[in-house]
Amino acid sequence: MTIRYEKVALIGLGLIASSMSHAMRQGGMAGTISGHARTAETRAVALELGLCDTVHETAAEAVAGADLVVLAVPVGAMGAVAAEIAPHLKPGATVTDVGSVKQAVIEAVAPHMPPGVHFVPGHPIAGTEFSGPRSGFATLFTNRWWLLTPMAQADLGAVAKFRGLLEQMGARVDEMDAAHHDLVLAVTSHTPHLIAYTMVGVADDLGRVTDSEVIKYSAAGFRDFTRIAASDPTMWRDVFLSNREATLEILGRFTEELFALQRAIRMGDGEHLFAYFTRTRAIRRGIIEAGQDTAAPDFGRSKASS
Ligand code: NAP
Repeated sequence: MTIRYEKVALIGLGLIASSMSHAMRQGGMAGTISGHARTAETRAVALELGLCDTVHETAAEAVAGADLVVLAVPVGAMGAVAAEIAPHLKPGATVTDVGSVKQAVIEAVAPHMPPGVHFVPGHPIAGTEFSGPRSGFATLFTNRWWLLTPMAQADLGAVAKFRGLLEQMGARVDEMDAAHHDLVLAVTSHTPHLIAYTMVGVADDLGRVTDSEVIKYSAAGFRDFTRIAASDPTMWRDVFLSNREATLEILGRFTEELFALQRAIRMGDGEHLFAYFTRTRAIRRGIIEAGQDTAAPDFGRSKASS
């Protein structure tokens, strides 16, 4: 039996919300979908693409009568949106968010939730460097993890129903503690993004000196950095401001290791470099053996597109 919510409200109509709309529409998982975004332009595009049946100038209007409310705005905007919608939520409704940081969002949203409304914080580990209502597609979540960080007093029925919806959208769902989520994501996503931003910035400075050789001779590694560094500036500013402790912890460890490698290069310590690279190569093998990536050269890209 298809898990279905009669009325779904999408607050924020960008990459994640539009992908959810496509997936829910395709699977018949939503009766009607209402939506709100900040600008009239985004709201018009959402109507034009059929992402929503109705769009509203305020989030409060969009959530009226909704059984499922999805907060899909930048992390820094979650608290204000929660405060605005709180008096208009239907008793028994489930409210979720898709923010990339969990502790800060819970602190910002949970205090506003009225009794009888079920807040189930979540984070789809899926995305692209594109944003806005036109960037979504129905298969974005297929075989990707969607992490839920339910609070101790969560309503188990509401969590189970929402989890079922995510699985119908093709996602693999796991539950974990919000603090643990933030540390794991600092390692796997947030710090790597910061490193990519830095590397592209450094290359840009160098590019001025070498007259665009950086782009001309760009190898796969650097091209991947430029793709990551093209991610939405608002979203990533908010991620670092709201997952400050975990990212600073991981960045501290990163710079220590970097200094150790820098020293090894300066001292001509080939043994250190070889041992380090041997260890990291084994980690990559472990990822492939666990089925988390392809062993194909160049990550399975065709020669033509590389
Ligand atoms: P996006 O494509 O940039 O879209 C953001 C949407 O939020 C836009 O519709 C924007 O409206 C709206 N918005 C921004 N500020 C608002 C406010 N104060 N009030 C109402 N609406 C507002 O963003 P996204 O990539 O879908 O990301 C949304 C959330 O998902 C973020 O919290 C992000 O951390 C999380 N997330 C993103 C990814 C990813 O890879 N992109 C992956 C997982 C989770 P306008 O267009 O009218 O400005």
